[in-house]
Amino acid sequence: MEKIKMVTPLVEMDGDEMTRILWQMIKDQLILPFVDLKTEYYDLGLLHRNETQDQVTVDAANATRRLGVAVKCATITPNKQRMEEYPQLTQMWKSPNGTIRSILDGTVFRAPILIDSIHPVVKNWKKPITIARHAYGDVYKSVDLYTTEPGECTMTFKGQSGEEKTLLVQKVDGPAVWQGAHNKEKSIRSFARACFQYAIDTRQDLWFSTKDTIAKVYDGEFKKVFEEEFESYKAKFDELGITYFYTLIDDAVARVIRSQGGFIWACKNYDGDVMSDMVSTAFGSLAMMTSVLVSPDGTTEYEAAHGTVTKHYYKHLKGEQTSTNPMATIFAWSGALRKRGQLDGTPDLSAFADKLEAACFETLGDGIMTKDLVGLVDEGTPVTAVNSSEFIGAIHDRLAAKL
Ligand code: NAD
Repeated sequence: MEKIKMVTPLVEMDGDEMTRILWQMIKDQLILPFVDLKTEYYDLGLLHRNETQDQVTVDAANATRRLGVAVKCATITPNKQRMEEYPQLTQMWKSPNGTIRSILDGTVFRAPILIDSIHPVVKNWKKPITIARHAYGDVYKSVDLYTTEPGECTMTFKGQSGEEKTLLVQKVDGPAVWQGAHNKEKSIRSFARACFQYAIDTRQDLWFSTKDTIAKVYDGEFKKVFEEEFESYKAKFDELGITYFYTLIDDAVARVIRSQGGFIWACKNYDGDVMSDMVSTAFGSLAMMTSVLVSPDGTTEYEAAHGTVTKHYYKHLKGEQTSTNPMATIFAWSGALRKRGQLDGTPDLSAFADKLEAACFETLGDGIMTKDLVGLVDEGTPVTAVNSSEFIGAIHDRLAAKL
């Protein structure tokens, strides 16, 4: 069989621990036998990031801006414990995802992979709900203060021009806590544009919610910027028959729970943090959650939403077989290949991505699954619990039959 040709390379970002092992298995068994794979490879494994003083992460992000599509393996973000585990680390390097996100000025979209035998806890949810989380500012870049005596707090903005604006926050008669938060109009605009672009790319309705009845200026600005930006996308939305819908966050929660799914829910930073965990838990498993970083110019980076599955890695190092679920990582590859095919006008590559995903669904439909899913499937479903290698092998056989 002749392999499927690629025109432009993907940016390939390798990662750490068990997902790095899965990465190689997926490439070897599900991609390289069928696709004449072209990638620009960047090793974002922790030790290589350390050797390059994290320059490799910056290079990988810049390559993504240049080439337009990337696929990323999960990576370790070092903390104190990791500094002890890897004594050769010269710094507690920042999260690669954070670095890439700030270079691409992107928004993260997370969506569950649904299968027939696993039903969401919310029984009317039939289609995926994609959460778009604004990834800059608010409480995540705020300052906090605790005070012990009666007094008052004011907030002052000093402009470069010398103009000052002061507001009384509150007078208090005893101990109190205070918080100063901000967001930038530029970041909100990028967020809005990434959301509209992603809604068009995936042909889904877009919902956006804040609490602008209470935070009239702060959340009001979010609402206003979204309305302004929507003007440039409205014609395309009309053409595709999709809608943009703004509502208050409490109304959105009620509607989401009663909905059938099948839309994108754009959330401010904190709301997105909380709601993405709620939605992913209700849909089943972190191992079945995909994640895409989209920048306002349409540059995309695909990955799994989960981490490096450390416990399984240490089992693997002891020579034990693990039943780590590769679905989200496979879907990162299929997402990136499909997008590359669309941008390059190579429909064979996009069709390959569809077939790869179909082979995954068939395998799961045949009851062959990793252990994390076994406890989630409907009672009475015949199931064969397999290790990662057997699971990928079963997908390979079904994929080969389709090509
Ligand atoms: P994790 O996602 O690796 O694991 C969380 C839990 O979910 C564990 O119980 C794990 O066994 C289970 N799990 C996750 N994915 C699974 C899969 N595919 N198959 C079966 N079970 C799965 O998160 P963690 O333990 O909090 O973090 C481990 C490492 O991953 C950390 O060093 C962290 O920095 C990193 N991390 C990276 C990313 C990323 O690169 N996007 C995201 C989160 C965490």
